[in-house]
Amino acid sequence: MRIDNPYDKQGTWLRGSFHNHTNNSDGWFSLETVYNMYADYDFLAISDHDKITNLEAICRIPTVFEAIEVSSTKPHMLLVKPPYSIMEGYSNEFTIANYQQFADATLDHGGICVLVHPNRYFSNFWTIEDMLQMERYTGVEIYNGDGNIEYDIAFDKWDSLLSAGRTVWGFGNDDSHVYGQEKQAWNMVLAADHAQEAILDAIRGGSFYVSTGYGFDAIRCEGSKITIDLRSNALLDKMYKYVTLFGKDGRVLHEATGRVKQVVYECQGDEGYVRVSAYIEGGYAAFSQPLFIMKD
Ligand SMILES: [Zn+2]
Ligand SMILES: [Zn+2]
Repeated sequence: MRIDNPYDKQGTWLRGSFHNHTNNSDGWFSLETVYNMYADYDFLAISDHDKITNLEAICRIPTVFEAIEVSSTKPHMLLVKPPYSIMEGYSNEFTIANYQQFADATLDHGGICVLVHPNRYFSNFWTIEDMLQMERYTGVEIYNGDGNIEYDIAFDKWDSLLSAGRTVWGFGNDDSHVYGQEKQAWNMVLAADHAQEAILDAIRGGSFYVSTGYGFDAIRCEGSKITIDLRSNALLDKMYKYVTLFGKDGRVLHEATGRVKQVVYECQGDEGYVRVSAYIEGGYAAFSQPLFIMKD
């Protein structure tokens, strides 16, 4: 048995969101105000609808990314670090061919591509059939802070894609438009340094997890054993945790509750993948990427 552990590397944990709007599209605030809302983040992308916003403004965030949210009347797609060439003759019309050429151009340019808010059923959602037709994309937005618990949470579609054999990572983003939407969901990235390339490299390798307030100190493998170190300190260790490990088709593999700070799971070999969802009492959560389990 072999376990592909995306967290088996050295680096620094960096916090950031890839999906945020300014008043250059339907956000309420100027770029400078949005930068101030996220002044303590390590990285931030500005992803206005159907345009690449110029990032020049006073900014204390070490790393910022150009991005665009391709926003048809149907599904939306986030491109981080897109080439400007996509704006020549730009159309947001949703066809697989049109979205795929934007995705390809961005991936070939060293950027990433995320299918966003796939469960926003009242408007701009993705069908699983369309998600399976799209290729090469980096991941799906499993947690979008612009919605609420009735939509914009998409673990079901993520499990479907993973179970169909796709390597797609889960993203958490605010999709912020107004005050109150900032810092609801973010990505903790284990990157070599703060450079754009280092962050995007780590993302491509799945070396990040989604947080809404809780976290992992480490996820380690030894033989067929996965050890999950939950974020731990004297105060956190007193609080209840609810940890669930999921496998192929969303099957629950293991659960642990109580004042736990470490969970150990022995893989059987038939899991397909193992992903971890950890909540601390109060509801703050951390969601790992899948660790793919390869049978010998
Ligand atoms: Zn959208
Ligand atoms: Zn958006």
